[in-house]
Parts: sequence; structure tokens; C-alpha cells
Amino acid sequence: MSLNYENLSLKQWCELCHSIAKEKGFWDEKRNIGEALMLIVTELAEAMEGYRHQDHDNFREELADTFIRLFDLCGGLGIDIQAEIVKKSEKNKLRPYKHGKIC
Ligand SMILES: [Mg+2]
Repeated sequence: MSLNYENLSLKQWCELCHSIAKEKGFWDEKRNIGEALMLIVTELAEAMEGYRHQDHDNFREELADTFIRLFDLCGGLGIDIQAEIVKKSEKNKLRPYKHGKIC
């Protein structure tokens, strides 16, 4: 039976991405969190390359990789990213225009 991806919550995406990463051995040893964060950055750099080369399929795929690595990390660390996004969005709504920056 295939999974219905359409209605997954962010928490479910974190659980799914983390379970796949664990199954593939990426959590066999204690994760270096700094390295995990930089691997997320490398996916964004790969997306930038896809964009620069006007390789739209690659651009979209690397953005997906970015989310997959981020969801995996949140899942592995037990972070409720949905709750964190809600909290931060509420905070951002109260900030001034362009967050008070002049330029
Ligand atoms: Mg990639």
C-alpha cells in the first residue's frame, strides 16, 4: 500500500524523512549536528547551481532534498517544527515593516 503524501502534516513529514534516513543508516552513529546543518546548506547550494544552469528539474529536486534533510534532522532531534513555525510566524506578524530595517 502506498502512502498518501498529499495530507501529511509537517510532523508526519519529519517522522517519515527521519525513518527513511535511519533505515538507510544515516543515524547509526551519533549525528554531528553542525555537519547535518551544513549538509542542508549544501542542498541549497546545489539548488543554486540548478537555478544558475536553468536546470529546473534539478532546481526543484535540490529544494526537495533541502526539506528532506531538514525534516530528517527535526525528526531525529524530536523538534515539533510545525509548532515552531507557528510560534515564529506569530512573532514575525508583530514585527515592524521590513522588520524595522531602513534599507
Ligand atoms: Mg542534493
